[in-house]
Amino acid sequence: MPKTLIEPFRIKSVEPIRMTTRAERERCLEEARLNVFKLRAEDVLIDWLTDSGTGAMSSRQWGAIMEGDESYAGARSFYRLEKVIQDLTGMRHFVPTHQGRAAEKVLFTAVCKKGDLVPSNCHFDTTRANLEYLGVEAVDRVIAEGLQPALVHPFKGNIDLARVEALLRKEGHRIPFGMLTVTNNTGGGQPVAMANIRAYAALLKKHGKPFIMDVCRFAENAMFIKMREPGYENTPIRDIAREMFSYADGATMSAKKDGMVNIGGFIVLRSDEWLDAVRNDLIMMEGFPTYGGMAGRDLEALAVGLEEGIDEDYLRYRLRTAEYLGERLEANGVGFVKPTGGHAVYIDARSVLPDMPIAHYPAWALCNALYLEGGIRGVEVGSVMFGRRLDDGTETYHAMELVRLAFPRRMYTQSHFDYAAEVIAEVKQKAGQIRGVKIARQPRFLRHFTSEFDWV
Ligand SMILES: *Cc1c(COP(=O)(O)O)cnc(C)c1O
Repeated sequence: MPKTLIEPFRIKSVEPIRMTTRAERERCLEEARLNVFKLRAEDVLIDWLTDSGTGAMSSRQWGAIMEGDESYAGARSFYRLEKVIQDLTGMRHFVPTHQGRAAEKVLFTAVCKKGDLVPSNCHFDTTRANLEYLGVEAVDRVIAEGLQPALVHPFKGNIDLARVEALLRKEGHRIPFGMLTVTNNTGGGQPVAMANIRAYAALLKKHGKPFIMDVCRFAENAMFIKMREPGYENTPIRDIAREMFSYADGATMSAKKDGMVNIGGFIVLRSDEWLDAVRNDLIMMEGFPTYGGMAGRDLEALAVGLEEGIDEDYLRYRLRTAEYLGERLEANGVGFVKPTGGHAVYIDARSVLPDMPIAHYPAWALCNALYLEGGIRGVEVGSVMFGRRLDDGTETYHAMELVRLAFPRRMYTQSHFDYAAEVIAEVKQKAGQIRGVKIARQPRFLRHFTSEFDWV
């Protein structure tokens, strides 16, 4: 067998990306006030800001779009997708929403009340925000290994069962259900083992609590189980996914991830218990139960996307791309979170800029440098995103200074990854010339999106 793992598709439709000169990029970044979120996408060569809703759809998905039934109630497209989702998840009830955070909002509004507490490995930002908005405490209980970037562990997304059990004993009366994010996005797209899912489900059951999974990247998680968990080497991905779902009582999904579509999401529920309350909220917030927040054509694209997202050749290529970039970084002495996760690589900015003071935001500086050097857009996950300016003008800083490169699905080829590896190596070579930044203007919340910066 040849060693090279190729993209398991050929290209039928292309979208040009534009090479810019360094002088142009300098001007664009100045106009964006040194914040890559404010760049125009057409001024970016390789856009690795997020993997959410940014992937390429297949010719089968584009074909299915023409079959969308846009009837208000009872559309054919709803029943088609419902069958795909029932087969995959084994759950009876499918509730469509326009994206993942809407699924969370609808479910939590129906089920949670002020003063509740919901444990998870790590709550994703929108999950946490939706819970906290309702006055619910969102508690992270990922295993200790999951918080150490340089430590290699096959399932860094696992939940800490002993600590969750302690929480169930002490705070059980406040817990309406337990959650688990697969893969664990906040921890770098790290997978959760089947054994951990099974044991967590049993623990929740023992305490009489339903189990809700956040399944945005269920297919990538299933592939990691196949590659890393003894006993699953020869199990088809669909069967691994089905087993994962079999332990849960319900799930929320952003179809913009492993649904392989540009917009969409859903809730699935095993029993009728919460269904009426969920559908009432759905009608208020999203739409009639057979379309929720989606057009008929979007339901069709998702029905195809869910099947394509569990294709093993695709998943092997998908996980390999992240691993491959990791190997290239390792060879160039660039630090990153290990092992590489499913959808992203997180560069440790301190390994490139060890001498830059934290007050000059090294990860933000590196993010800017990647754009200036090669037109690559990543996102800072460091002290701009997680730090805060206090009322006395001082700052709190984040424990890690990372730059996340998140990969849209089926969009970039190996040469794009090779190019990126060269740009990163070049930036490391020239690290002495990289300039730090200071914040000129910032909003009170979520400051990374809109802050403006000056060079130090
Ligand atoms: C993206 C994401 C969400 C939210 O989904 P949106 O479609 O962006 O609203 C929730 N949980 C996880 C783990 C995610 O990655």
